[in-house]
Amino acid sequence: MEEVPVISMVCPAYNEAEGIPLFLEKLVPVLEKIGKSYEIVFVNDGSEDATLDVLKEEKKRFPRIRIINLSRNFGKEAALTAGLEHARGEAVIPIDTDLQHPPRIIAEFVAKWEEGYDVVAGRRLTRTGEHPLKKMAARLFYRLHNKISDIEIPADIGDFRLMSRKVVEALKLLPENQRFMKGIFAWVGFKTAIVEYYQEERATGTSSFNGWKLWNFALDGITSFSTVPLRVWLYIGFAIASISFVFGLWIVVKTVVFGVDTPGYASTMVMILFLGGIQLMGIGILGEYIGRIYKEAKRRPVYIVEGEY
Ligand code: UDP
Ligand code: MG
Repeated sequence: MEEVPVISMVCPAYNEAEGIPLFLEKLVPVLEKIGKSYEIVFVNDGSEDATLDVLKEEKKRFPRIRIINLSRNFGKEAALTAGLEHARGEAVIPIDTDLQHPPRIIAEFVAKWEEGYDVVAGRRLTRTGEHPLKKMAARLFYRLHNKISDIEIPADIGDFRLMSRKVVEALKLLPENQRFMKGIFAWVGFKTAIVEYYQEERATGTSSFNGWKLWNFALDGITSFSTVPLRVWLYIGFAIASISFVFGLWIVVKTVVFGVDTPGYASTMVMILFLGGIQLMGIGILGEYIGRIYKEAKRRPVYIVEGEY
């Protein structure tokens, strides 16, 4: 039987052909220096470029590479899930292949793990190489998310982390289809240490997260861990109904005391439009959740593996 490695690196890769050789050149010496047995699990997330060929080529140079090739692009969260499920190590470390997560920090992760921490999370001190608007949106998202969710996601902690086998097994117990990994990581808990690092610019290529993708990512995050957007309508409805009741009373009294006065077009229109808008928003939010329930109810697998190399 093949020997089980101590450390598993989990590397989701989507169109990273150009960056992978450089990534390995930085990563492998760090792992060699730690001196424990390791494997590097790449998940090729349906790349349209030569990522798979490059990986196969690199495997000749670094035989500890394992390639999980997905049948199409399933998105980073799914690719990460695939990697975590295929990793065999006692300590599992997800890392981006674009060198935004500096590999040299891994030695610190392992040292903390040996001290007895089950999770060692990387906290980025900078978000170099990110658009100021993205940074602002991210800040806003975390503030809102943490206010309305049962679990808190620290703003500057991402997927770059070490997790013990115990934690990875716990992650596998979460059956949900839509995997908002940051939330799932936070949800499982465990004794956590923090290691700080400076996020670097992407070595090559561009980020595959644009505005619309990020917006949907944020919706996934909030709907995965909070039902506040659903429940808030009860209170909004109650408030509007109370105001309407008082207003209605006032109209009746006015009519009785001063008689009928017909004008009222403006106020009627304003109320119809306002309430119509509010109702549509409420229905829209319901739709967001129902859409997710629908997807979840189909119980489709999170990813499909085309083959392992
Ligand atoms: N990635 C992936 N599938 C995708 C998009 C991204 O596996 O559909 C990988 C990508 O190759 C990289 C990591 O996820 O290793 C982070 O992606 P990216 O750098 O585009 O995101 P950002 O760093 O801007 O959040
Ligand atoms: Mg990146």
